[in-house]
Amino acid sequence: MRDLLMIPGPVDVDAEVLQALSAPVLGHLDAGFIATFGRALKRLREVSLAPSAQPFVVSGSGTLAMELAVANLIEPGDRALVVNTGYFSDRMAHILERHGAKVTHVRAPPGGAPDAAQVEAEFQKGDFKLMTITHVDTSTAVLAPVESLLKVARHHGVLCVVDGVCATAGEAFHQDAWGADVYLTASQKAVGVPPGLALLTVSPRALETWRKRKAPVASVYADWAEWLPVMEAYEAGKPSYFATPPTSLICALDVSLGQILSEGLEARFERHRRMARAFRAAWSALGLRLLPTSEALAANTLSAVYYPEGVDASLVGRVKAQGAAIAGGLHPELKTRYFRVGHMNRVTAADVLVTVGAIERALHSGGYRASASGTAVAAAQAALSA
Ligand code: PMP
Repeated sequence: MRDLLMIPGPVDVDAEVLQALSAPVLGHLDAGFIATFGRALKRLREVSLAPSAQPFVVSGSGTLAMELAVANLIEPGDRALVVNTGYFSDRMAHILERHGAKVTHVRAPPGGAPDAAQVEAEFQKGDFKLMTITHVDTSTAVLAPVESLLKVARHHGVLCVVDGVCATAGEAFHQDAWGADVYLTASQKAVGVPPGLALLTVSPRALETWRKRKAPVASVYADWAEWLPVMEAYEAGKPSYFATPPTSLICALDVSLGQILSEGLEARFERHRRMARAFRAAWSALGLRLLPTSEALAANTLSAVYYPEGVDASLVGRVKAQGAAIAGGLHPELKTRYFRVGHMNRVTAADVLVTVGAIERALHSGGYRASASGTAVAAAQAALSA
């Protein structure tokens, strides 16, 4: 029997999305595909709440989406500020450095997030071209205070790239209203499609910066110059070719984005908050502590939870034996000390209860008895009913 997939990506996807993937493969010049790709691009812009932005859909994973932002906006010697909330912020810094940026980190202890005052202090000290924020860092489950950080960047005229891989379509984000220049994500998390697509929405200001580059982008595959005519053509109902688009995945993306928009973004963000609250009620009933240092910083798309005294990483395997696949830690300094549970995309109350039940049974079977059997499930149920 298949385990319930509750890792922080890839996540379980809807049957209609899978159906789109099982349809006969379309050519990239097929009239039906042209219409679908054009609609998917428009829908991506709507999901990012970015009417002014240019969407890009490219074959690749979230890391390519990061590189597609950095490679086009950074030139050697540019200064970049990384708002560091964990492993994926480190990855962003690695990519920035590879493209010649001089990187400064603004950090908080694990589980925390730098605030607007810390970012302001860095901007007072240096002349930055770009700032990056990891909306939700999947290694720590920290939800960055992205709106207030973006406000500071805007005030200083600094471009801002937001990594939404573990957030887009799960956490509230208003790209245009909040002034983010690039919102990037991948298909396999709250966007609800199997892995394989890098997705970006790029502001006019970022495109303008890219157009004024002194030197061409060092990578051909990552160069917006190659992709922009393709995206513009498909949105205008015409085919264009640079590199073969993953036609089946794009058809699946169109279905999923359609579902996201028909659920309604606000309703979807609220469902994620509700499921996260139910999980938090369960962690608290079990006497477990979250890695994020405050509830305001706790993501709604996943939980990162410390193992209690006497419990180690073997819990993950025992939870799987109880029917739910969860993940171990990922933060370099803490990875053996906590586990992670993804709760995004089509996550339902039933998924919460099954997962909490599996974790509770696994803890009890391992000898952890801080709560009576059923306490955590009851707490989650009460939160779901509230
Ligand atoms: N950023 C974040 C926040 C992520 O969670 C991930 C993947 N877990 C990535 C970037 C990289 O994405 P991918 O693994 O699809 O390359």
